[in-house]
Amino acid sequence: MESIVAYELGPLPEKITGGCLCGSLKYEAHFPENHDFKDNSGTCQCTQCRRSTSHLFFIWQKVPFSHFKWTSPSTDSLKNFYCTPGNARGFCSSCGTFLYWRREGGPNINIPIGTIDPLYLFGEGWEDSGGEVPKNGFGRALANGCGGHEWTRNEIAGVTDELELVGAGPKGRGERVEAE
Ligand SMILES: [Zn+2]
Ligand SMILES: [Zn+2]
Repeated sequence: MESIVAYELGPLPEKITGGCLCGSLKYEAHFPENHDFKDNSGTCQCTQCRRSTSHLFFIWQKVPFSHFKWTSPSTDSLKNFYCTPGNARGFCSSCGTFLYWRREGGPNINIPIGTIDPLYLFGEGWEDSGGEVPKNGFGRALANGCGGHEWTRNEIAGVTDELELVGAGPKGRGERVEAE
């Protein structure tokens, strides 16, 4: 889709890795060759996403579920919470990190940007990546906001309503009917 702001995404990753705060859950996601990093970057300011991320909004990069896999030896600490039936909010029951939003049976998984490893997000340790990751990582490609913003009716005046990230894509896109 056409984005409102002509964002330069910079280099595009072929994959990312990430995980939870305590380290018991780690994942890897590979991007399809034609992955649209703009269309798959969005945010939600619904009250459910605020509470489950404990932040002003949920910022994601969406990938095909078939391209996402767990790489930690165990996923025992992974739990799903359902605020809306069929919509899983995955989290680590050891440390509390919110790890995904996913419509069960749907084709995609929405990965919270904050769980992506620092190497990919902003280039921490890029010198040791053998050329895979550029100096500043892939943050712009992963979190550009061009794909749209849900529940902007919940914007906080003077706080979330004039952010460049939220201005980058259409507001009010894909609002889901959710109990709040
Ligand atoms: Zn954890
Ligand atoms: Zn939401």
